[in-house]
Amino acid sequence: MIVGLPKEIKKQEYRVALTPAGAGMLARQGHEVIVQEGAGVGSGFADEEYAQAGATLVAGPEAVWEKAELIVKVKEPLPEEFGFFRAGQLLFTYLHLAAAVPLAKALTERQVTAIAYETMQAPNGTLPLLTPMSEVAGRMSVQEGAKYLEAFHGGRGVLLGGVPGVPPADVIIIGGGIVGTNAAKMAIGLGANVVVLEKNGDRMRYLDDVFQGRLRTLTSNPHNIASAVRKADLLIGAVLVPGARAPRLVTEEMVKTMKKGAVIVDVAIDQGGSIETIDRVTTHENPVYEKHGVIHYAVANMPGAVPRTSTLALTNVTIDFVLLLAANGFRKAVEASPMLGLGVNVHRGAVTHRQVAEAVGFPY
Ligand code: NAD
Repeated sequence: MIVGLPKEIKKQEYRVALTPAGAGMLARQGHEVIVQEGAGVGSGFADEEYAQAGATLVAGPEAVWEKAELIVKVKEPLPEEFGFFRAGQLLFTYLHLAAAVPLAKALTERQVTAIAYETMQAPNGTLPLLTPMSEVAGRMSVQEGAKYLEAFHGGRGVLLGGVPGVPPADVIIIGGGIVGTNAAKMAIGLGANVVVLEKNGDRMRYLDDVFQGRLRTLTSNPHNIASAVRKADLLIGAVLVPGARAPRLVTEEMVKTMKKGAVIVDVAIDQGGSIETIDRVTTHENPVYEKHGVIHYAVANMPGAVPRTSTLALTNVTIDFVLLLAANGFRKAVEASPMLGLGVNVHRGAVTHRQVAEAVGFPY
């Protein structure tokens, strides 16, 4: 099969959907790999590395989209790319179609088969192609929080781990899923006092087991949240209610009780945010603002700050499906992998994923 790798064009997107190692795996299996020049540069992969792996480099996106039978990407195509769509072409990417009616129209009208990373679900209900980005964001939340706690970034000048004779900082994490667990790991590693507020009892039992007393769990309810928030040096929002907007668990009144110079990192901002005083999405260029003396961080694409790590983490979980599609073609690949089948959002001019179809108002 001919596999194409265009350069991402979304603002602040430096990840790439295929590494030179992945291109090499495809080439060794006899596939042709076409890579747009500069596609990997944002993640630290030079064109020569792709060429050495057996890929063909081309100057612009046209040559990639025109020739490739399978296009691999990181982010959803933007309107500038809609004109490249061809009937029967396979597209494998984060699609987020539920929020993108014009994209759904373009893909169906032009009969592209689009497989979305985010709807690929494992038999145990997890979303393995989203997990690595939650791991990155969870770990980064502590790194960013530590930075903004420094006095020269406006914070209260507290070191997360303290030093002998001086107490460590209090890190409060709301939501003990992938993001929360990874945040906890980092905060504990730095020596902070960590409390995780959760709703799910089994999840608290799991955290209690694996962290062996190095963190405390607290049932998530308004009373416990209010008293934990008051003590926080660093507050991390890490909740998720699948398919719904993030619940607003921390009220403005609670934020007013926080220490001056404390920091909030709301990772759940991509689902609308879990903190009442977070009323806007921030960017890597301008990540924080201050309200009631508390620093608020609300970047919706945190993994974008560490594209090298994020690209490696993402492609580690996508490459097997790229190889499967390339080797077997669409039909046989989805028959062989029910998880890949759950990723199919658009096929033969129709939106084929029930929830996505309902969200964009297309017939199912
Ligand atoms: P997850 O499903 O693994 O974990 C969410 C946890 O929240 C679950 O354990 C759940 O029980 C818990 N929860 C639900 N309601 C709660 C409540 N009222 N109180 C306390 N806990 C509650 O999800 P995840 O992968 O950890 O993702 C968390 C959030 O981070 C999501 O909104 C996700 O989209 C977001 N995210 C953001 C970025 C970013 O760059 N900002 C990157 C990756 C993920």
